[in-house]
Amino acid sequence: MSASVIDGKLHAAKLKARIAEATGRLKAEHGLVPGLATVLVGDDPASEVYVRNKNKTAESLGFKSVHHHLPATASEAEVLSLVKALNADTSVHGILVQLPLPKQIREQAVLDTLDPAKDVDALTPTNAGLLLSGRAKLVSCTPMGVMILLKETLGPIAGLDALVIGRSLLFGKPAAQLLLAANATVTMAHSKTRDLAGTARRADILVAAIGRAEFVKGDWVKPGATVIDVGINRVEAGEGKTKLVGDVDYAEAAKIAAHITPVPGGVGAMTIVCLMRNTLIAAASQAGLAIPDV
Ligand code: NAP
Repeated sequence: MSASVIDGKLHAAKLKARIAEATGRLKAEHGLVPGLATVLVGDDPASEVYVRNKNKTAESLGFKSVHHHLPATASEAEVLSLVKALNADTSVHGILVQLPLPKQIREQAVLDTLDPAKDVDALTPTNAGLLLSGRAKLVSCTPMGVMILLKETLGPIAGLDALVIGRSLLFGKPAAQLLLAANATVTMAHSKTRDLAGTARRADILVAAIGRAEFVKGDWVKPGATVIDVGINRVEAGEGKTKLVGDVDYAEAAKIAAHITPVPGGVGAMTIVCLMRNTLIAAASQAGLAIPDV
């Protein structure tokens, strides 16, 4: 058997088209233009690329997109004062502070200052709590992307055994909550889990977010399972070149799974578009309008 490949780029393009349509309606019917502000502190090249792509995607959807770039030497007070100004700016509906931040700036202080209604990365304690309560409007982007891929690939997942390997605030914890809300039977695994391979072999849905190249082996996969690979790892590819691989041994797992996401071109493709989805939701919600169903 060879797994069908879950084409993240295709699903991301479909989601983007739905967002563009809803954005057009919001503009035409209410004169409302979703606004996304990005904040980058320092000159980390990878972060610069991420932020540039976020601004480009926002512009391509007709959003207002503003970017603030502070030097690596910026103080915590400067960053907090910028976040407060963006909180107060009614043309900005979503604020994204690119992480990680230079070490003189406490991430927690920034998240505690960010208006939860504009927290389009859904990292504030308020949005984490709303997710637990089943009342979240803004949900962490990568887990939301995974849920959309699962819904479009499998339909309802009620009763399926789902395993999430990794328990980060950014991915593992919100992913487990969303899977639970979709009535999967959820197990969370981490670095202290005993018999990870045996636990994985019971999973109908195996989600890997570990940050270790090709860590999940083919014989950990239950025949017919759906494998979602969140990992992004840069490895040597010979002749001085590098390439991106996931947390799953793709070639082996694809022989056993029914469905699998590739890296690149799988989960990663959904994340930015889900950020735009959150910005659209934030804009509608702040204007007191119905949340667009995208
Ligand atoms: P993270 O904060 O570093 O968390 C990694 C998790 O993996 C931790 O919970 C850790 O367990 C667990 N882990 C580490 N070694 C393990 C082992 N040997 N066995 C079992 N579990 C182990 O990572 P993250 O932010 O969630 O990111 C994970 C990966 O996803 C990274 O490759 C990242 O680049 C990628 N990512 C991709 C996207 C995207 O858009 N596609 C978005 C976010 C993240 P402990 O808690 O016990 O330490």
